[in-house]
Order: sequence, then C-alpha cells, then structure tokens
Amino acid sequence: MRVVFVGPPGAGKGTQSQRLVGYLGVPHLSTGDIFREAREKGTDLGKQATEFIDRGELVPDELVVGIVEERLLMPDCDKGCLLDGFPRTVGQARQLDGYLKKIGTPLDLVLELTVGEDELKRRLLERGRADDKLATILHRMRVYRTQTKPLLDYFRAQRLLETIDGSGTPDVVFERIKLRLAERRQAAERG
Ligand code: AMP
Repeated sequence: MRVVFVGPPGAGKGTQSQRLVGYLGVPHLSTGDIFREAREKGTDLGKQATEFIDRGELVPDELVVGIVEERLLMPDCDKGCLLDGFPRTVGQARQLDGYLKKIGTPLDLVLELTVGEDELKRRLLERGRADDKLATILHRMRVYRTQTKPLLDYFRAQRLLETIDGSGTPDVVFERIKLRLAERRQAAERG
C-alpha cells in the first residue's frame, strides 16, 4: 500500500507514521528526516536544505523530488511505502503521480491530519526542535496554508483523500486512522 501523510507542522505526522509503518509493514519515507540526517552528516544536500528549513521555508522542489524518486526505487518500497511530509506542493504531487504511474505503482491513499492552531503551537513549542521557534512556527503554518493546502483539492479530486481528526492522544488518533483504513477497505471490496 502507498500512503501519503499530509498535515500542518505539529499535527502528529511523524508520531502516527511510526505506528502506521509497523501496522502496514511498509518503509517510512520522511523527507524531513532525510534532510536532518544529511545535515548531521554535513553533505551538500544537508547544507543546501538547512538554509530553507531554519527559515521555515520549503526546500525547493528540485532538491526534494530527486531524493524521493531515488528512495522509491529501493527494493523495500516494492510492497509499498509511507510518504511522510512529501509531497508538500502541487508541483511535487504532480511529479510524484507521474513517476509512480511510470513505475506502475500509483498511490492508494492520502491521510490528512487536522489539529486546531492553538493546539499545534502548544505541541511545537513543547517539542523544541531547531525549527520550532515561535516566529518560525508561525511562518511554517503560513507556508502550510498557502503552499501545501492546495494539495488537498488535488488529491480529493482523485478520491484519494481521507481527513482524520488529529486532536487527542496518539493512541486515540491511531485508532481513528485504523478505523478509517478498515472502512475504506470494506468500501473497496464492495466496489
Ligand atoms: P518535517 O520534518 O516534515 O516537518 O520537515 C521539516 C522541514 O523540512 C520543513 O519545514 C521543510 O523546510 C523541509 N521539508 C520537508 N519535506 C519537504 C518537502 N516535501 N518539500 C519541501 N520542503 C520539505
């Protein structure tokens, strides 16, 4: 199964991804994690991406799409994968679609996690990552609204989108996700 997680910063994509990859038995592909690892290793990719990440901007599509395509070609992605934080722009989504169709493995599902802005701010300030300063958080939320939200219409039009309430504890949210997966599977079986 090929699943995409979309949601504003702090919605719990990372936490829920950890659970979902175990449940579905597919690898976890997080572009944010790839960039953070590259930064720690001091690679060119890491250096280029860091500039954008620390300002709360998106890394340009040209830097992101190639690394995802490369990762998707690895054999562990044959049975599916969970894309966490990619795509984040309509441009990335179009390129991903084209690429997955070319290699014969289209997306099955896009999960959108929603959480109110006050709750998001509280969670992010508690998390305290390098890009979790208040001004950067507010900017990332703005970037989400303007650049990533248009993706939702794109996926809705393809009947791939499921919206999940991301408020509450990680356990409660994960139960909602499993329930939705089961409902979707049943609907698919009914045709
Ligand atoms: P995340 O860990 O998903 O919150 O990502 C952390 C940061 O990495 C984001 O705020 C962006 O600066 C960058 N990033 C991650 N994924 C992407 C993507 N698909 N497109 C552009 N930038 C990204």
